[in-house]
Amino acid sequence: MTEIYHTGDPIWCAGCGHFGVQGALGHALEQLAIPAHQTLILAGIGCSGTVQNNLGTYGYHAMHGRVLPTAIGAALANPSLTIIAAGGDGDGYAIGAGHLVHSFRRNPNVVYIVMNNGTYGLTKGQDSPTKEHTHDHPGEAALDAVSLGLSIFSSSFIARGYTARPAQLNALMVQALEHTRARRGLAFVEVLSPCVTYNDTYPEWDARVVDVDAQAGYDNRSRETAMATVMRNYREGRIPIGLIYRGQARTLEEIYLKDISRPPALTDFSGDGRKDQVREILSNYGLK
Ligand code: SF4
Repeated sequence: MTEIYHTGDPIWCAGCGHFGVQGALGHALEQLAIPAHQTLILAGIGCSGTVQNNLGTYGYHAMHGRVLPTAIGAALANPSLTIIAAGGDGDGYAIGAGHLVHSFRRNPNVVYIVMNNGTYGLTKGQDSPTKEHTHDHPGEAALDAVSLGLSIFSSSFIARGYTARPAQLNALMVQALEHTRARRGLAFVEVLSPCVTYNDTYPEWDARVVDVDAQAGYDNRSRETAMATVMRNYREGRIPIGLIYRGQARTLEEIYLKDISRPPALTDFSGDGRKDQVREILSNYGLK
């Protein structure tokens, strides 16, 4: 190690939901005793994209909309790390939407946290893809990443938390980390994280959220139940939160990385025989 990294102070407005996301994630990492030096948090562009500066783990600020491919590359290069991608709804559902779709398909061992506030806070309040249109606020239809994820049959973990429900949000972060660390694939956690400056949705979301974790008999291992529950709630104007679905699917690592005990990021390239080492790494991914 050549330099000690010091954590920063959040840049967020007082009352921003992102404080709750950072608190829940930091607490979950502590609860599971995941060492900071074995954790990499990658973040996208936007107010939420600074969360990695504040948690004392390794951090990486990805290009706009590119946090998922960057995180997937890191996860395949060094599967021993706990990889967490984080960003906002603008970063993940607009410019990064294609990567979201294909990450659900590929099921990499990554936790992906999306702080959804329905607005681009960093650029002063333009509508994001999740902004809901109303009679008073006409506009384009909102994108729903939970039902999108459920519609892709290789998705394996889909949850939604709310920063006004901190205990549940913390529990969802713990379950997401456990899912990915057990090598079961992508743990997707959308967090309702209001932007109190440009789109304060706390009063509205307080009235509309419905907790599926608290519903007796809700079977989060059934994709059909999850989809039907989500659709029914949307039709009735409610927003389901909780662990909505968890299942099993082949992971990207199982498809492409033959031997996880030989991660390329830990290969010693010093000395002779570098060509042979590169060939060995490529063969580990099934490439020539
Ligand atoms: Fe949070 Fe909105 Fe302030 Fe950005 S502008 S820090 S999203 S409250």
